[in-house]
Amino acid sequence: MAADPAAKGQGMALHTKMLLGFLVGAVAGGVAYEFGHAVDADGLKQTLPWLQVVLTWVTQPVGTIFLHLLFMLVLPLVFSALVLGVVEIGDPRSLGRIGGRTLTFILVVSGIAVTIGLVAVNVFQPGAGIDPAVGQALMAETADQAAGIVERGEAASAMQVLLSIVPRNPLAAGVEGNLIGVMFFALMFGIAASVVRNPGVNSFLSVLQGIYDITLKLINWVIQLAPYAVAALLFTMVASTGFAALRPLLEFVAVTIGALAVHMFVVFPLLLWFIGRMNPIEFFRKAQPAMLTAFSTSSSSATLPTTLRVAEEVLGTPKRIGRFVCTLGATANMNGTALFEGVVVLFLAQFFGIELSLGQQVLVLLMCILGAIGAAGVPGGSLPVIASILVMFGIPPEGIALILGVDRLLDMCRTTVNVTGDLVGTVLISRGEPADPVNPAAGDDLTTPIASR
Ligand code: ASP
Repeated sequence: MAADPAAKGQGMALHTKMLLGFLVGAVAGGVAYEFGHAVDADGLKQTLPWLQVVLTWVTQPVGTIFLHLLFMLVLPLVFSALVLGVVEIGDPRSLGRIGGRTLTFILVVSGIAVTIGLVAVNVFQPGAGIDPAVGQALMAETADQAAGIVERGEAASAMQVLLSIVPRNPLAAGVEGNLIGVMFFALMFGIAASVVRNPGVNSFLSVLQGIYDITLKLINWVIQLAPYAVAALLFTMVASTGFAALRPLLEFVAVTIGALAVHMFVVFPLLLWFIGRMNPIEFFRKAQPAMLTAFSTSSSSATLPTTLRVAEEVLGTPKRIGRFVCTLGATANMNGTALFEGVVVLFLAQFFGIELSLGQQVLVLLMCILGAIGAAGVPGGSLPVIASILVMFGIPPEGIALILGVDRLLDMCRTTVNVTGDLVGTVLISRGEPADPVNPAAGDDLTTPIASR
């Protein structure tokens, strides 16, 4: 498949550059955090002016522009990818089969993820060991932010989420960032288009294919900036918050990351090996650009352009399946988020001394699977959902404040699991499906510099 461009004298591979950007950002951020803060007379930590300037004028804008460039491509991609995916899958029987497999994958693999999280919290009891006074102090720090999240959680009742799936106005859904609404519209549009298929519809589909190709070309360009943006995003995060926030919650952080790691490095490889018939090491090597983008942006939606490109051009799965599974998966298939929701609910129950029976924990499991489908693929997208699950089980939703200080790091990790899960799903669902008639991108690689394409 993809040859090593470095060997062909085309410079360093993109994923290596991204990894370098990641390390440079994290290390430089750590150093800047140490030297860029001073403790004032009241004992409060203040950011020194030079670091403020670097953050405000260099790293934050670079990171934000990169995020905007990615988000800018999401709407045209979601619509064109889903309509084309559905039309290419073609007859209703294939659509039913692939749709059914996708749904089964989402429900089963998210269920496995939540179970891993729940078992980990039951075994390690991270919530029981937190000193209530330390907990109250931590909660006081982020109480306002938590109140906003709880409010959004209350507004997002299960019924409202259900209603927002069918948008009254698809353009408004797009503008408001209601991607599930846009997806529903695109799915219906695609189904109708594949039924009609007259010359008018075919011309429209050619236009849509054009939109898709242009968007993918744009992402080819945007992703060349990724190594710098990854460095900037990591620097901003580490230099402004450091790792001090992690200390009091170390056990919670360790349990969450450990459980996510089990899902990522045990469950996914087993699925890939036994069902997808793919070597997991090869998979992880190829999925790297999407994983690194997910880690540094904490957003499945912002990563979608890269995910699609990896599925199509690097993993070489049939286009129609990648388009269908990855696009839907960006908001509906969130294994890392499902696991995290379970961990937080149980952790806070332990912290507040609320006993959840096995039956209630099974209910938590179901709610977390549904909650992950409903959560938006943006940074912190699952927090309002978690708040509403907490209310259901009589756990004070303000407890969310306890974990806000460490949420960013955990968000980066769970988003990486979410996006990797979409690619694993694509590989699994592609198995046994016919390949694309022609694969113009065969042999292409994300690591190939654009100029030499
Ligand atoms: N940031 C996650 C994502 O975009 C959602 C979440 O768990 O907050 O996949």
